[in-house]
Amino acid sequence: MRRYFTLVGRALRLRCPVCGKGKLFRGWFSMHGHCPQCNANFQREPGFYLGSIYFNYGLTALLCTIISVSMMFNRRVEQWQLIAVTLSIAVLFPIWFFRYARSLWLGFDQYMDPRQGETGTGRK
Ligand SMILES: [Zn+2]
Repeated sequence: MRRYFTLVGRALRLRCPVCGKGKLFRGWFSMHGHCPQCNANFQREPGFYLGSIYFNYGLTALLCTIISVSMMFNRRVEQWQLIAVTLSIAVLFPIWFFRYARSLWLGFDQYMDPRQGETGTGRK
């Protein structure tokens, strides 16, 4: 369980899942190919980050559903306001969450298929 929280913490800080020190991103959308600290490969196979779309889409859909349903039951909210807020979230949230979705996917992959040299996890 400690290893799980270590990997989630590293993912939320956008750090390398193997060493926890190297940054995953050099810009808003551009990732390093390898960890600047431990040289772990961040692109484990072609199309690797396709799985991060599950995280991004799932959380965006959940968030839109919760907010739009809660706004529907508020009588002071107009229909156009509900659409504007939901549409804004549906467009802007995935852009903001892009890096975290990739980072969480990388951490999930590290959890399910650990690489050699993982440090600070309490498990070998
Ligand atoms: Zn690293």
